[in-house]
Amino acid sequence: MDMAQKVSAETAPGTTPGATPDTTNVLIVGVGGQGVIMVSRVMARIGQLQGFDVKQSEVHGMAKRGGVVFSHVRFGPTVWSPTIPRGKADILLALEWAEGLRWLNYLKKGSGTFIADTRHIVPPFACLDRTRGAKLGYLAEPPGVVLDQVADGYALDATALASALGNHRVSNTVLLGTLSVVIGFAPEIWQKAIAEMVPPRTVEVNLKAFEAGRRWAAAARENPESAREHTLRKPAVLPELEARDFELRITPEWCKGCDICVKMCPERCLSLNALNIVELTEPDRCTGCRICEWLCPDFAIDVIKTLPETASR
Ligand code: SF4
Ligand code: SF4
Repeated sequence: MDMAQKVSAETAPGTTPGATPDTTNVLIVGVGGQGVIMVSRVMARIGQLQGFDVKQSEVHGMAKRGGVVFSHVRFGPTVWSPTIPRGKADILLALEWAEGLRWLNYLKKGSGTFIADTRHIVPPFACLDRTRGAKLGYLAEPPGVVLDQVADGYALDATALASALGNHRVSNTVLLGTLSVVIGFAPEIWQKAIAEMVPPRTVEVNLKAFEAGRRWAAAARENPESAREHTLRKPAVLPELEARDFELRITPEWCKGCDICVKMCPERCLSLNALNIVELTEPDRCTGCRICEWLCPDFAIDVIKTLPETASR
């Protein structure tokens, strides 16, 4: 089986694999800042546009990255409860890899579909050793091992696909594109719901991300080899670095001046400027520990490795 995807022969486009005749259960999981709620609202809106009764419930509220966020969306002719019982999700959509694995027991055995971004987000406070190159206690299972446990599964580097469009924050919409291929319904319905739910200035890039996710899923079904490009992610932690071979990049347009990174930087090298935008004011003290990157709720900071890529794909 290919590492990127596994598609059961019974799964035909336009049907919801494993759905009961009455209700389709979609469980969406991730961590704070990834857009779980936006995805679930799009899904709920699509249910409405199709004329179904829709129930949605969610747990969120973490203002910083790392907090668990999940949402249940159920639609059908009549839906009585807003929550999906354990083992009854037709689709588990994970915006973060470890969260997907944590919720696997909610997926229907033998018929459920697993869709996950292979992106790793390590909770910042799980990183007690902040030495560069230190090993993180992240799950070791590669995508192929996980996909072998489910009836139907897609593991893709949605973040890389989104980054290729110039905005890695639309990785959630890339996953919506993949979800649309699994669930069916006309693409126009999905595009309408996405355009309604995202900020007006991001409609264009979100629609491109949706198409990228659809193309990836269609290609994965047609030819698993074509999906390899985005299967494996770069390591979640920077490899051991001897010299100063990283760069801290700030996207000012995304910074809302919340001050989290400024307060949490262990080396005190960040400050807010007069416009309330973060700046690296003490670059010589920056160790590249990535705490600011992991904590920023708006993905406004990236610590980029500047040495040639050595990670294997
Ligand atoms: S990467 Fe640099 S700026 Fe960011 S938290 Fe670490 S030391 Fe501070
Ligand atoms: S970079 Fe992120 S964490 Fe830092 S102030 Fe801006 S929004 Fe807040």
